[in-house]
Amino acid sequence: MSAPMLDIDLEYAESILERYDTSGPRYTSYPTAPVWTEAYGIADYRNELGRTDVDLQDALSLYVHVPFCRSLCHFCACNRVITKDVSRAAEYLDVLEREIAAVRKSVSVPRLATQQHWGGGTPTYLNPDQIRRLSGMLRDAFPMRADAEISIEVDPRTTTPQHIEALRECGFNRISMGVQDFDPAVQEAVHRIQPVEMTRDLTHLARKSGFVSVNYDLIYGLPFQSEASFEKTLDTVLDLAPDRLALYSYAHVTWKAKQQRGFERKDLPDSHTKLRLMLRAIRRFLDAGYVYIGLDHFARPEDELTHALQNRTLRRNFMGHTTQDGVELIGFGSSAISELRGSYAQSQRDVGPWQAAVHATGLATMRGHRLSPEDVQRRWVISRLICLGEIRADEYRAEFGEGFASHYAAELRVLESAARDGLIEISSDGSLQVLPIGRLLVRNIAMAFDAYLTDQQRSGEQLFSKTV
Ligand code: SF4
Repeated sequence: MSAPMLDIDLEYAESILERYDTSGPRYTSYPTAPVWTEAYGIADYRNELGRTDVDLQDALSLYVHVPFCRSLCHFCACNRVITKDVSRAAEYLDVLEREIAAVRKSVSVPRLATQQHWGGGTPTYLNPDQIRRLSGMLRDAFPMRADAEISIEVDPRTTTPQHIEALRECGFNRISMGVQDFDPAVQEAVHRIQPVEMTRDLTHLARKSGFVSVNYDLIYGLPFQSEASFEKTLDTVLDLAPDRLALYSYAHVTWKAKQQRGFERKDLPDSHTKLRLMLRAIRRFLDAGYVYIGLDHFARPEDELTHALQNRTLRRNFMGHTTQDGVELIGFGSSAISELRGSYAQSQRDVGPWQAAVHATGLATMRGHRLSPEDVQRRWVISRLICLGEIRADEYRAEFGEGFASHYAAELRVLESAARDGLIEISSDGSLQVLPIGRLLVRNIAMAFDAYLTDQQRSGEQLFSKTV
């Protein structure tokens, strides 16, 4: 089977996307984080780490959150700490060391790690020696498999050749750079001045140093972006030819990112322009030979994510799309999330409480969720929809021993209007195929299977970003 094509009628897309532009989760987990509660705490997490019904061969992913950044990008809604006090990094590493040791002590079945990812904040806030120290701490506790994927998010403004040297020495083989937009007016408005040369030089250096994959993150919907200016950014991006691309919608979430209140509404592209920016970028990427992996991500045809999409082995976790099925993820650092077989756990969000908790007990779980059998089934459905764009009723029966159409009769009725709009096709046995235009709206389709959403929506809280 070849990768599902994203062959869409742009005019029809424009006419329909605005109607589906609602708030919705990104489904990096199911149930989503707002459902998790403090009823799940440190003891639950410790028990989950200590499970013995795990095979030595099972895949294991490690995530480390480094929250520090030198300056604030005004579009950013991440969990980060803006500081120029570099001594905070050394102190943070000391606490990480304790947390890693406590987690290692709690894990009953020691497995080789198959993936490692550092995110933030800005992981390259750490200096090269601190990178070596953190990498060593992780490897001592959780040795890596020889062919492990080891990736990092970097900020080209603060990443030096010495950083790249240290990262390669530590085995990093994939690098992701925040680019957002190359237009000087946009960069000034979002308080992130990053000349093209900076990104270009780092891309070349990363390639020369042996990174097998370079990813760029772009954002559409930023202040002062126009179709003409974004077109120029896309020209430059395609010229630099990253292996992967992520195209995110700017999330105007002023209730949690207060600096966004500084953006004048009139400077933000209107919803029509924003939509055209997205569709234009998609068209350019597809024309340049990238494959749409799903949920804002594109990759080269020879990329392992493309192969996983073609082989129906593509999966998704907090770190993004992955080729590894059933992988358990252990997160370290403030706000880090762990996804274990039976539950999700998140550490204290702010650095102070996280440090205090680690000093007190070794672990810093703030909230979590133990999956019910119904959660597991719905997680399977949502993951299949988002990663593969289809639900096969026979596979659902093989997995859970019951009929898909009968279990989800109400949900399939809700989706009839999406079928009429050409987003999906539903077969008589309930099998569901996401059609090209529906791939852009897959979060809306997944929302039909989210058993918790109604309560969340009723609460009136703004919990999620826009789906388009
Ligand atoms: S976008 Fe990245 S570098 Fe900028 S403030 Fe957010 S986490 Fe820090």
